[in-house]
Amino acid sequence: MLSKSKYIRGLQCEKRLWLDKHQPQLRDALSANQEALFAQGSDVGELAQQLFPKGKDATPDYSRRDGIAIGLAQTKQWVAEGADVIYEAAFSAGGVYAAMDILVREGDRWRAIEVKSSTGVKDYHINDAAIQYYVFQQAGIDLVDIELMYINNEYTRDVELELDKLFARESLLEQVLPLQAGIPDRIAAMTRVLRQADAPEQSIGPHCHDPFACDFIGHCWAHVPQPNVLNIVRIGERGWQFMEQGIMALEEIPTDADLNEKQWNQVRGAQTGEEVWDKPAIRSFLDEWEYPLYFFDFETIGPAVPLYDDTRPYQQYPFQYSLHIIREPGAEPEHKEYLADPNAGDPRPMLMVNMIKDLGQSGSIVTYNMGFEKGKIRDLTITYGEYAQYLMPIIDRIVDLIVPFRSHWCYLPAMNGSASIKAVLPALTNLSYDDLEIKEGGTASNTWRAMAEGKFSGDQEATMQALREYCKLDTLAMLEVWRELRKRIS
Ligand code: SF4
Repeated sequence: MLSKSKYIRGLQCEKRLWLDKHQPQLRDALSANQEALFAQGSDVGELAQQLFPKGKDATPDYSRRDGIAIGLAQTKQWVAEGADVIYEAAFSAGGVYAAMDILVREGDRWRAIEVKSSTGVKDYHINDAAIQYYVFQQAGIDLVDIELMYINNEYTRDVELELDKLFARESLLEQVLPLQAGIPDRIAAMTRVLRQADAPEQSIGPHCHDPFACDFIGHCWAHVPQPNVLNIVRIGERGWQFMEQGIMALEEIPTDADLNEKQWNQVRGAQTGEEVWDKPAIRSFLDEWEYPLYFFDFETIGPAVPLYDDTRPYQQYPFQYSLHIIREPGAEPEHKEYLADPNAGDPRPMLMVNMIKDLGQSGSIVTYNMGFEKGKIRDLTITYGEYAQYLMPIIDRIVDLIVPFRSHWCYLPAMNGSASIKAVLPALTNLSYDDLEIKEGGTASNTWRAMAEGKFSGDQEATMQALREYCKLDTLAMLEVWRELRKRIS
């Protein structure tokens, strides 16, 4: 029997369908970010159930071999007994098994509701709903409608969480009905693939990441060198044209290839080790900065379900900052930081007050990709209007250290086309993020959010220290990159 998720995988790639069944051990390990996203999705699903209370729960116990069979039997029984609401209602028909997050009785018919943590209907939701609708209709469940319930990102929390405002609903019936006729043939084709002794022939391609990154990329892409032509900055379709011509490594790109200047900087860097330095441009850019220099960085969270008053779903707001200060030319750096207590409620007010104090009233505030920091501070001026008089001058003082790298005034082969601080830092200095326990912003954010939601299990004190180390390296990285730039142009 095909499951809904296998059917969806089969739509993306037949080989993925086959590997999933026959060689699941080849799957890539889930990243911490993916796990956090799954956990968030299941939290959102449980919250949505509260809008349809007292339902029977047919969620399978996946640790049992017969977990799905039990879920199917329970659903059948509760439908027969006249249940009004069933969570994870499951049916099998036509060789496919599918479950629905919430199934609600309406007279003799049923309303099917699938819950997603997205903020609207995406194309891939339609295929999901189409196979669910097919299975349920085939199983004799007469659906009056099939809906997607998703997060309404226009909602702003005001004291209590209002679930009827947090969630939006949209009928998918009109879109899934035309897809019904093609489903039996697709199921038959996928069933044939699953019965094959060997994996179907399938080249890698854009489909490996569309609509989601496949979990067999580590296996299928093992022959692709790193870096490769797909890593060329803003290469798009052209990268796949190179791949089709058998050109994978940057070293293989012919000298007459049609690339722009920045793309050639990257390719030449890989082919000859050539660096790009526009020292006058860098010098005049850095000379505009005013001392004291404040190297500043936020860490933020953006939970799907607003945790605090005056926040919207997925709104990013800071819980931590790090600051390295150089008071005058040649001075040693001072370090300041703020990390909100995750058990003390909304992190923004205290962070804001400390930030205003620490950033002083004059001097350039150096960020990396300043649109983010500016945007978060601007959000604070909206929520805390009485602080706008202190926050707006801070925004005006912000400068952006990414500019020399994004502009290719400095391009080093080890940056591999990226101007991110994680690429620039090891390319230009001896520092890197590799030795840190927390290595990237997504993990920092998920970790603090888990603590704030009371879902963190582990050594909180040690983890708070790891968060401090991570954020501190972000501003130390900027400081060291700036120092190195100054050294190279002097
Ligand atoms: S990595 Fe690409 S080719 Fe391989 S199974 Fe996944 S989608 Fe198919």
